[in-house]
Amino acid sequence: MSKTIIISNRLPVQLQISDGGLNAIPSVGGLATGMKSVHSGGESLWIGWSGLTEEDTPADLEKEIDKALKQHGCAKVNLTTKEMEGFYFGFSNRTIWPLFHYFLEYSEFELEFWNIYKTVNQKFADAIIAHSNEGDTIWVHDYQLMLVPQMVRKQRPNTSIGFFLHIPFPSYEIFRTLPWREEVLEGLLGSDLIGFHTYDYERHFLSSVRRLLGLDVSFNDIYLDHRVIKVDSFPMGIDYKKFKDAAIAHAQNTKEKRSDLQIKLDDHKASAPDTKLILSIDRLDYSKGIAKRINAFEYFLNKYPEYKEKVRLIILAVPSRSNVPQYQLLKKEIDELVGRINGELSTVNWTPIWYFYRSLPFENLIDLYTSSDIAWLTPLRDGMNLVAKEYIATRIDKTGVLILSEMAGSAYEMNEALLINPNNFEQQADTLKKAITMPKEEQIARNMFLQNRLERYNVEVWANEFMGSLNRKSEGEQTHKSKKMSEAILEKVGEKYAKSSKRLLFLDYDGTLTGFHKDPQKASPDEELYQLLDDLHNQENTTLFLISGRDKQTFTKWFLHKKYNMIVEHGVWISRHGEEFKLLEQVKGEWMEKVKPVLESFVDRTPGSFIEEKNYSLAWHYRSTDPDFGEKRATELNTVLTSLIGNDDISVLNGNKVVEIKSSNVNKGRASVRILGEDDYDFVFAIGDDWTDEFMFQELPDSAVTVKVGLKKTQAKYHVESTKRVRTLLKRFAAK
Ligand code: UDP
Repeated sequence: MSKTIIISNRLPVQLQISDGGLNAIPSVGGLATGMKSVHSGGESLWIGWSGLTEEDTPADLEKEIDKALKQHGCAKVNLTTKEMEGFYFGFSNRTIWPLFHYFLEYSEFELEFWNIYKTVNQKFADAIIAHSNEGDTIWVHDYQLMLVPQMVRKQRPNTSIGFFLHIPFPSYEIFRTLPWREEVLEGLLGSDLIGFHTYDYERHFLSSVRRLLGLDVSFNDIYLDHRVIKVDSFPMGIDYKKFKDAAIAHAQNTKEKRSDLQIKLDDHKASAPDTKLILSIDRLDYSKGIAKRINAFEYFLNKYPEYKEKVRLIILAVPSRSNVPQYQLLKKEIDELVGRINGELSTVNWTPIWYFYRSLPFENLIDLYTSSDIAWLTPLRDGMNLVAKEYIATRIDKTGVLILSEMAGSAYEMNEALLINPNNFEQQADTLKKAITMPKEEQIARNMFLQNRLERYNVEVWANEFMGSLNRKSEGEQTHKSKKMSEAILEKVGEKYAKSSKRLLFLDYDGTLTGFHKDPQKASPDEELYQLLDDLHNQENTTLFLISGRDKQTFTKWFLHKKYNMIVEHGVWISRHGEEFKLLEQVKGEWMEKVKPVLESFVDRTPGSFIEEKNYSLAWHYRSTDPDFGEKRATELNTVLTSLIGNDDISVLNGNKVVEIKSSNVNKGRASVRILGEDDYDFVFAIGDDWTDEFMFQELPDSAVTVKVGLKKTQAKYHVESTKRVRTLLKRFAAK
């Protein structure tokens, strides 16, 4: 039976070793809860690091640990202290984390970190291979494991692999500074589905894929060799019910059952009933903007001094990654800042900031959420920010104001909150005032929308949506409109070929018989290709036609001496048995003089593009331009040409990184049908990769074997994934 394998840096179980033996306690974090529906029963396995390095694991407990983890559906990856240093505290948290949060100046590009990151990712991938079968579904989590999808794909080409990034994906301008940027992208592209929290992260990723790897991207599909990789956004939710229920239980608590923290909060409220409590909760991380927030708070008190003694800011900073130097510096900075402001502004009755540097148990978080009038969250950059969602979920009477940084992923879904730019102190001071004075009805109206949305799109829905999309993706490929040219189909087609007595083959050149090259002149045929074409051409009963959009000069140079039959410029010229090219269609060329200056102006304004002049057509190539810019210019050119031409005799073809203008009565479909009509063929075959080849696929009779190279939509009956596969196919024909 097929399983789901979840893989993350940490397992959702905490191991505790004491004198009494070993304890495995399930974690209650958001991810663990969300994955409940995915990670259940005996049909799933969660692989990750246990929290104990090899050095810290007593040898005699090794087996017992494995057994305890197994009971929770988990298996561990063993890591040494050195590996943890380089992989987690090093590359993950000193290179990727700052870079992906736009803290370029904190990113350390250490080769040693990168090497260990690769080794450890391989360890995780090996663990997946050891624990899984081909039919299993694999879901890899987060920035610590970005190379795992490709490492697994290498050994399991047909397994369904999903990846979700829980942090932002930065813009191309930031990402491209990473020395190992291509390797990271290629690692991720081992997946079938890549998920992000927001559309912006998705768009940044796609832009990097296009620019750095030069891959084709159409909407949110990436075309890589024989695979289509889907990229989508799935904003992660929270366990809404857990927070709501906890708040309800909290409200029903008797006085005696209150926590010490709640008693303190209640005492404070009783002594100063007009005072508003403003809450902020974050891990102590530079991305959270804690220091800026404290400064903004001071700014607010100076701008609106009437609120002195009327507001109190509670800061809960949860210790995090304290062995990374940057975090130690930040801790010092915040300690000093809180000390200074409290020192300067406190009065006998009032301390402006209550600062806690610790992690609090769940009950105390609920105390804070339910007792605070305002939650003020100001990350400078945050993949999602769950605290914002948790605060809203606990507001059972729907009061409370959320002030949220627009740099947090959650801001995209929480439009009814007061959204701020954390760098704008003026705006924040005014927003704090607005929050303090916001009428209850307005608070309720805003929170009603927020709560409905959070309740509906909770963390379980998030996990199910991702898994659903991954499953649909793997099913979808099997129902591709054209059939994949499998071994079995190829065998049958081969037999038909062998049995037939008069065969006609149409072979497109670029993207079919050979790959693309930035300079079209350099994509000349190699020896293997000549040999293959010779074999087919010399076969008795086989008429081979190369059919291309290329100009006749180039094909004369490359193929005339070989005496292959050729149709070029999409059907304008024909050459048979080594004769000079002759016109196949009567075409007019007067329009070219008018169009050429337009194309020239596009070349001037689009670095890297150039014009290819053929006898009866003009092509504007943009393969070497910046991909986004090139596409934009191509759209612009299409608009300009449509209004300029306004004539049915001329048409514009949008090929693979090329816009071609040619006479309308010329296309490969028309040309191939003309040739077909010249004799009685009992086996007709056409293969091509481009939009222009679709004319052949459409116009040739149903009995023809038509094959598309690549996975894009097509009218062809079959598809093959790559030019390599084309050669295998043709070699099969040649051997008959
Ligand atoms: N949290 C916690 N203990 C604390 C403070 C916070 O468990 O003392 C939790 C909080 O409930 C939230 C998570 O930590 O679920 C923080 O998630 P968020 O997305 O806001 O930030 P991250 O730490 O993932 O960057």
